[in-house]
Amino acid sequence: MTAACVVVWVIGAALLISSLAQMQNYASIINNAGVVRGGTQMAVKLEMAGVHADAIAERVDGLLVQLIGNERARLFKTSASDAVLDDLQAVQDKWRVIRDEVEDVRSGAPSGALLQASQEHWELADKAVKAAEVRANSESRLMLFVSAFLVLFTTAIIVLRERDSMKRQRRIFYTDPLTGGSNLEGFCRQAAKEIAAAPPSTYLVVYTNIVHFRFINDSFGRTAGDELIVRLYEIYRESCDGLCARADSDHFALLTKNDPAALETLCAKVDADLRAAEDLHFTGTLSCNYGAYVADDPNVGVASMVSDAAHVLKAGAKERGIAYYTEAFRAKLSSEMEIVQGMADALEREEFQLYFQPQIDVRTGMLTGAECLCRWQSRELGFMQPSAFIPAFERSGLISELDFYMLERVCRAYPLLLPGDRGGALPVSINFSRPTVLQDGFVERFLEIVRSHDLPSEAIEVEITEGAFMVDEAVVINAMDTLRAEGFRIAMDDFGTGFSSLNLLRRLPIQVLKLDKEFLREGYETDRTQSILSDIVGMAQHLGIRTVCEGVETPEHLELLRRIGCDTAQGFYYSRPVDLESFKRTYLG
Ligand code: C2E
Ligand code: CA
Ligand code: CA
Repeated sequence: MTAACVVVWVIGAALLISSLAQMQNYASIINNAGVVRGGTQMAVKLEMAGVHADAIAERVDGLLVQLIGNERARLFKTSASDAVLDDLQAVQDKWRVIRDEVEDVRSGAPSGALLQASQEHWELADKAVKAAEVRANSESRLMLFVSAFLVLFTTAIIVLRERDSMKRQRRIFYTDPLTGGSNLEGFCRQAAKEIAAAPPSTYLVVYTNIVHFRFINDSFGRTAGDELIVRLYEIYRESCDGLCARADSDHFALLTKNDPAALETLCAKVDADLRAAEDLHFTGTLSCNYGAYVADDPNVGVASMVSDAAHVLKAGAKERGIAYYTEAFRAKLSSEMEIVQGMADALEREEFQLYFQPQIDVRTGMLTGAECLCRWQSRELGFMQPSAFIPAFERSGLISELDFYMLERVCRAYPLLLPGDRGGALPVSINFSRPTVLQDGFVERFLEIVRSHDLPSEAIEVEITEGAFMVDEAVVINAMDTLRAEGFRIAMDDFGTGFSSLNLLRRLPIQVLKLDKEFLREGYETDRTQSILSDIVGMAQHLGIRTVCEGVETPEHLELLRRIGCDTAQGFYYSRPVDLESFKRTYLG
């Protein structure tokens, strides 16, 4: 349709241009007819005065032949153009009579007949000029009208269709294909209007999350995940008094009245509706959590409000419930930003320090290894424990730079030798965060660093937290398999804090299991905790995995470990983490 319109538009435009060209042609016809009229009069006058006007006569001859020839050759003839041709032919006939009369006058005949013929010629020529004018006027008006109509009409159609298709494109741009409702762009547009039209702080921008959605997707398949999202969208649409839209994957953006109690009610209702949805096979396990941002400044873009609500949701890491974006949170974010931004300079200035905590054989009391832990002596922020910066580095993805830096520094600090006469390299455990292990090229970079320092593989133990194995399990296992084949020891850190699947132990390429210090906190004396610990240690022994218990603070802790057969102890009972010099002095001196 649009193509046809464009063709017609082009035809119209071509007609318009050709009618403008034709008007020039008409002007030249009228002009030439006028020359014939005037030239004839001039020639007759000269002949009557006894002057031969052959040149003028030839010009008139030529013009008449040309005018008549052109008229005959015209493709489109109308009654107006027929009249022009007839008139021109009458003029030519009369011109022939005049030429005969001129011959007679030249041979001495009286000039009366010539004068008479010239008068008649004038009238005929004048009529022909007028006929040409009439024809020019009517034809060019018609051509102009037709072509202008075509151009205007088709332009109007093209513009309307274009507007229509833009509208359609805009609709697609603002629609989420899965739910059929708004997407984030659509939400931001509508919410901005609502927020601008109301007094500040009237609304809350809320970002939602399905707890363990990844687990649902992985266990029940993508289709089940999609089904859940569509269902949840329907529930939000029914329950929310404002706007709702799917923001991305399992997250929705809501705009609701700034009424925390009402939001609580809404969240409870959504959880209840989800649990009641019998067609979803995983209903019993479902719940959502929320990040909320009070829209107190209309100058802040809605996209940024949504992103702040998402931020507080993730940082809040609440299993259930609503986390609000508060002033305190904003301050925490900006200090986190300061920490993250300071990392590159800190690496350059070597502000990160290596602290070592001994690991002691429970039976012999001998040093068997050490865990390397990071401290940051910052020029701007002072001395910091890992809890002040590691989580921020992990969130920003920069943690891998620190992990590789620590590996490199441990390699540089070598050789650390076992005390006494046993000799050999003292194994040092280094912590690697989940984002580091999942990074492309992790194994290659790891091996390159160790090899460039000519270190024996037994010198390094790789500590990875239990949680790292839960996502992209295959990638992590693959990396660990390679490192293990290269002779490095792999330890699973913080066992007992996460999913703690004993079954998982069987499949993982680990040689060391580190029991989380939480096992030795309050209540460790209970039979229940002790029997769990004992079972884990027994199972590990059965699988040939060495056990290290963290957080050993008292002789009683040590006694318990001895009783259940745990191999190694690490904790304040022996030593807090200390710097390299102190470590060497105390243990290797
Ligand atoms: P982690 O790997 O579980 O390290 C053990 C933590 O327990 C250390 O905390 C250590 O000081 C503490 N600890 C040791 N013995 C005891 C005890 O008897 N009682 C108590 N209450 N605590 C004890 P630290 O040094 O503050 O490190 C905290 C966490 O930061 C580490 O936990 C580790 O996850 C992380 N971290 C430290 N350095 C690095 C690093 O270079 N890279 C990465 N990725 N993470 C690191
Ligand atoms: Ca560790
Ligand atoms: Ca640990």
